[in-house]
Amino acid sequence: MNCEEALNGMMEVLNAEALPDAQPLLLEHLRTCRVCRSRWERLQRVERVLRTAPLVSPAPGLTSRVLARLERHRRRQRILGGLAFAIGLGTFLLLTVLPFLGILPGLPGALRIALRTGEVLGDRLISGFGSFLNSLCLSATAFLTLILPLLLCGIVLGLGLVAIWLSLVCRFYPIRRSV
Ligand SMILES: [Zn+2]
Repeated sequence: MNCEEALNGMMEVLNAEALPDAQPLLLEHLRTCRVCRSRWERLQRVERVLRTAPLVSPAPGLTSRVLARLERHRRRQRILGGLAFAIGLGTFLLLTVLPFLGILPGLPGALRIALRTGEVLGDRLISGFGSFLNSLCLSATAFLTLILPLLLCGIVLGLGLVAIWLSLVCRFYPIRRSV
């Protein structure tokens, strides 16, 4: 038996799970091991002191008072838990459900406004596109009425100059016909 096993044996004897005589290996170890013998003597002294110490009896009604206090504590915890749950639920409802409930009565009106806005926007888009086309036509007309005569004049002038140049060239450099 080693010291650890001896200590386990001492605990069994002190807890009245075994008698010292029923542990011959423990007795043999205590005879040979000075450390365990000293420990065994100290443990026995502590055990004697504990056995002879007067037992203090609890004050009358202590158990019922402790139980009542425990019950109050549990009740308070239940109330606080319920309150926290109610606050959480209320906050959740405030943040998520109530805005929808506030919108629901005004939903047809909002839908009507949205449809009307879409209609007006479509009209505006169509009229805007028409205005754009109109302005484009006006610009093109203005461009053609101002620029086209100038362009035609330029073309006629250019053709006339080319004709003059060709006649001059033909006059000064006559084409030699080969025979
Ligand atoms: Zn030992």
